Amino acid sequence: MVKYKRILLKLSGEALMGNDKYGINTDILNSYAQQIKEVADLGVEIGIVIGGGNIFRGLSGVSKGFDRVKGDQMGMLATVINSLALQSAIEGAGGKAKVFTATKMEPVGELYTKAKVLEGFKQGFVAIIAGGTGNPFFTTDTASALRGVEIEAEVLLKGTRVDGVYTADPEKDKNAVKFDEITFTDAYEKKLKVMDLTAFTMCSENNLPILVFDMNTPGNLNKVVTGEKIGTLVKN
Ligand code: UDP
Repeated sequence: MVKYKRILLKLSGEALMGNDKYGINTDILNSYAQQIKEVADLGVEIGIVIGGGNIFRGLSGVSKGFDRVKGDQMGMLATVINSLALQSAIEGAGGKAKVFTATKMEPVGELYTKAKVLEGFKQGFVAIIAGGTGNPFFTTDTASALRGVEIEAEVLLKGTRVDGVYTADPEKDKNAVKFDEITFTDAYEKKLKVMDLTAFTMCSENNLPILVFDMNTPGNLNKVVTGEKIGTLVKN
């Protein structure tokens, strides 16, 4: 029995680096692909948004003299590179995946529409929704909130290297305590970092719960969709 029938999985580009300094770590990529395939085999409909921080971030371009809009466009293209890598890895693991892009990029990926994603789900495809929102000054956190709401996902799963939301940064503060569950209001008032505020507000306003969990431990995605209590659930 699965707890969620339709999910939006957000993977950060940075997590895809593993312990490398740049780019795509193939062990992590294949581990993600394997976990995604296992969950797809349970019949779960999976939309995925991947970041691009392992390749390029618009803001870091600005500090090197790039125009912000151009830098952001480079960042959005970086998410397409990661999406193609994940598609390829899912197919390599024996699964089916399609890449949809926020802006026209055929034949790299099909132009995103909600209808095409839902049709893909019916045919058993995982939908990797690339290119962010298509607009500068946004993040892939916001893109994942937007796509999650659009495709009517039951939950936004934020797969990271940390196993949930803590009272403080657990890598810096030994006394940091993990929340099993917290409301959007409490998380906002405590200034906890769940996602950036644009994404956070979008989820809260549209009643899309966020579950933050450690995706780098194989088997965790399966645990989440089958209802095992791991990570932190943020809800209204
Ligand atoms: N980006 C953008 N609009 C979007 C999504 C992303 O301009 O809707 C750009 C932005 O420059 C961002 C980069 O793409 O820095 C990579 O995305 P993000 O930083 O969210 O990746 P992550 O931190 O998840 O690896």
